[in-house]
Amino acid sequence: MGEEKFKADEVLVIGGGLAGVEAALQLANRGIRVLLREMKPVKYSEAHSSPALGELVCSNSLKAMGLGQASGLLQEEMSRLGSVVIETALNNRVAAGQALAVNREDFSKALTRRVEDAPLIELVRGEATTLPNDRYTIAATGPLTSEPMAEAISSVTGDEDLYFYDAMAPIIEGDSIDRSVVFAASRYEKGGPDYLNCPMTREEFGRFFAALTSAEIVPTRNFEKERVFQGCQPIETLAAKGEKTLLFGPMKPVGFIDPRTGKRPHALLQLRREDEGGQRWNMVGFQTKLTYPEQKRVFRLIPGLQEASFYRLGSLHRNTYVDGPRVLDGYLRARRAPWIQFAGQITGVEGYLESAAMGIWAGLNLALRLSGKTPDLPPEESGIGALVRHVYTAPGKRYEPMNMNFGILPPLGVRMKDKKESKRLRAERALEALDKWIATL
Ligand SMILES: Cc1cc2nc3c(=O)[nH]c(=O)nc-3n(C[C@H](O)[C@H](O)[C@H](O)COP(=O)(O)OP(=O)(O)OC[C@H]3O[C@@H](n4cnc5c(N)ncnc54)[C@H](O)[C@@H]3O)c2cc1C
Repeated sequence: MGEEKFKADEVLVIGGGLAGVEAALQLANRGIRVLLREMKPVKYSEAHSSPALGELVCSNSLKAMGLGQASGLLQEEMSRLGSVVIETALNNRVAAGQALAVNREDFSKALTRRVEDAPLIELVRGEATTLPNDRYTIAATGPLTSEPMAEAISSVTGDEDLYFYDAMAPIIEGDSIDRSVVFAASRYEKGGPDYLNCPMTREEFGRFFAALTSAEIVPTRNFEKERVFQGCQPIETLAAKGEKTLLFGPMKPVGFIDPRTGKRPHALLQLRREDEGGQRWNMVGFQTKLTYPEQKRVFRLIPGLQEASFYRLGSLHRNTYVDGPRVLDGYLRARRAPWIQFAGQITGVEGYLESAAMGIWAGLNLALRLSGKTPDLPPEESGIGALVRHVYTAPGKRYEPMNMNFGILPPLGVRMKDKKESKRLRAERALEALDKWIATL
């Protein structure tokens, strides 16, 4: 069947995560009817547990705000493109310094309501196991795409190797944290005292480091090749590179003074609130694949966490994505089956924001194409344009997923010593280019 016979006013979106919700609402807001198919609560992936749409499976943070940060730039661009994820996040914020962190339950409930209230979206619960060849479809099934769908995707794209691995961090119950040891503050006192910080002396860090580097790790199953995304390395993998990798990485103490000693601690773990009331706290940067008993033993060596109760322990998870440069075009369509589009993390981006941004672009460009107006690709100078370009043109033998960072934006063309100023100029250029492009849509 040729695409010309497809209905131009109806689209199937598979997966009601961040990307699927963005894509569905972009389409519906432009008058296209959407059938949104979400497998929850009929079937859950290993990390999802709520029937609500747009579930945040790990951290509750949509990263730092402000145009000095790459994530802040992407947030701003997404807002200008009508992002429902950003709007909903802002409406459901919890205090987290400069980070856009949310109450995850309220956030997902609000996103679900937005979808349910949209007259042009029909939400259907149940797993999709095939990709149709008779209608426009956006596959937004995420890093934990169900097995049959992963097979369907492989057969459409010809991409056989869709699996990678990501680790996630434990969450601790607030009333089990020793408040006589931890202190509330943000690094360099930027923003409010929103984080809880566990300070460590040299000796305490030494004991913790020795335990961490000798702890038992969940073995990788034989048939699984383990490839972990660089930006999400488990804490024990970082530790194996040496103490400094922690002291200059997730446990860096700069910007903090321990009120008990009046001095900078030797090392420090930050805990970020999961909810406004502070009942649950996420161990920042402590994604791990240690066995559960070892996590409890080793993490309780951290001052302030000696009696910690874990609301959730860390674990290693599958990450499914296509080999973008070989499989996708700039509109995120499968080259071999252009009526099938992809959105979200499965396109080969990494992170909540980036995934939602790819949902916006997929929904937006499909809606415009169906109304007879093929848009230009988003400008390369913008964050969203740079991500799209990376996804379908990144060189190299094996594609690696990308998160938003200033390094993916084209250089300014002048050498700049002042990094802050360079970021500011690139953010300014990004928004200018984006606004011009939006005006053409
Ligand atoms: C364990 C883990 C931890 C992570 N931690 C972080 C983090 O801390 N910060 C961060 O920024 N990003 C994190 N990520 C990445 C983050 O999950 C994604 O970037 C984001 O959620 C992807 O959005 P998405 O819409 O593409 O997929 P998802 O949000 O996963 O949504 C996909 C949806 O599709 C549904 N689905 C799957 N298969 C089918 C099917 N066959 N039929 C119908 N529905 C289906 C799923 O139930 C789900 O609701 C993590 C990912 C994992 C796996």
